[in-house]
Amino acid sequence: CGVFGIWGHEKAAELTYYGLHALQHRGQEGAGVVVSDGEVLKAHKGLGLVNEVFKDANFAELSGRVAVGHVRYTTQGGSSLENVQPLLFRSQAASLALAHNGNIMNAHQLRGELENMGSILQTTSDTEVLAHLIKRDGQDTTTETIARALNKIVGAYAFLILKEDKMFAALDPSGIRPLSIGRLGDAYVVASETCAFDQIGATFVREVLPGELVTISDAGIESERFAIREQRKMCAMEYVYLSRPDSDVNRVNVHASRKRMGMELAKEAPANADIVVGVPDSSISAAIGYAEESGLPYEMGIIKNRYVGRTFIQPSQELREQGVKMKLAPVRGIVEGKRIVMIDDSIVRGTTSRRIVQMLKSAGAKEVHVRIASPSIQHPCYYGIDMSTRNELIAANYTVNEICDIIGADSVAYLSEKGLEKAIVKDKSLNQGICTACMTGNYPVKEQGQTPVMVTH
Ligand code: 5GP
Ligand code: SF4
Ligand code: MG
Repeated sequence: CGVFGIWGHEKAAELTYYGLHALQHRGQEGAGVVVSDGEVLKAHKGLGLVNEVFKDANFAELSGRVAVGHVRYTTQGGSSLENVQPLLFRSQAASLALAHNGNIMNAHQLRGELENMGSILQTTSDTEVLAHLIKRDGQDTTTETIARALNKIVGAYAFLILKEDKMFAALDPSGIRPLSIGRLGDAYVVASETCAFDQIGATFVREVLPGELVTISDAGIESERFAIREQRKMCAMEYVYLSRPDSDVNRVNVHASRKRMGMELAKEAPANADIVVGVPDSSISAAIGYAEESGLPYEMGIIKNRYVGRTFIQPSQELREQGVKMKLAPVRGIVEGKRIVMIDDSIVRGTTSRRIVQMLKSAGAKEVHVRIASPSIQHPCYYGIDMSTRNELIAANYTVNEICDIIGADSVAYLSEKGLEKAIVKDKSLNQGICTACMTGNYPVKEQGQTPVMVTH
């Protein structure tokens, strides 16, 4: 998912629309905005792409200088309208809107506890749990009530929370999900990715830090720590696949990191081939890096139909297969008779690679050597990236040789964990540590969670 928030701009809702548009790749199932005019919170939400959701938005009605927005892709809860964020809860004392990227691991347990205490939850989304925890603590929403609620949840999260006269931004103690602060004139902007800042002409100020709770109001910006700051464990898949190449994630440019992944991969797993081909769009940076390092020419052997969304967004396997077919096509004149290094950023279920190897071979490719610009994914993610169950993960069930047979390639090799880390972590002193749990099984956050600390003041 992607979150976007703006404080102190005449055109808050409109700028949120533009910001969400830049974050569209982070979720395509639903989008929404909640705007505050200082007294009332108003929402506009819908299922589908940002463009579709906002085409009937009346921005004159969505007036106010403050807004939070969200683009959704489902990892928990269904993909129905009630789960589209920001979630908005009205109350006499103070209304509350929430936008969340991540996953609350103990949501099920907390939901049970809340229901036992009489709460009636309106959605099946894990995010709603936080709203109830905050409100259970008293009518008003303050830094203290939010901090106490955050200390009850375990998982990965970047939260934007809005009430009439304040906006809060919070990041989990390990900083697994990205969240940055920017400025546009006198306005403050918060977004999952810096590409949203560029979109609206805002400038990057800093990252929200692990375990930090930022409060933005007309009094300016304040910062507190609601948890002991752990070593940062930024999701490595943000660099491998999820984020946009023009974004800087934890001060590392995504395209540049992918290019370095490709370069490391070329060093670790060279191939006897004529050309290097990347799977558009997310693997092109890595393919350029592989080509540069290996000295082989980079070629456009596959093109993408830009009118088809990301395949993994489709919920069923059948739709996913169809999606790949509609999305990618080989360039026969380029691949015919060639030995090809085909670079993909990752293999999850194996659908994309199998389909593309077939595609290249039926377009006349002599050999296809598959090189994957990340380590093999063998473990589920509990932190908000959808590759849910173990039996869906091809690398959890088959060896590299078996995968090579299944996808019909002439050879298959993955980037090592060391290579990945080298490509991402520029400067250890900047706390640029990464989460690689889906590749290594080393989970930085376990369900029992970290030691809670209370905000002191
Ligand atoms: P597969 O087709 O093997 O299931 O998925 C691999 C393709 O999906 C890659 O081309 C990659 O761009 C994309 N992908 C990468 N990471 C993820 C992820 O975390 N979840 C999902 N569902 N797809 C991903
Ligand atoms: Fe990202 Fe993998 Fe960690 Fe999930 S387990 S947060 S996908 S690196
Ligand atoms: Mg891809």
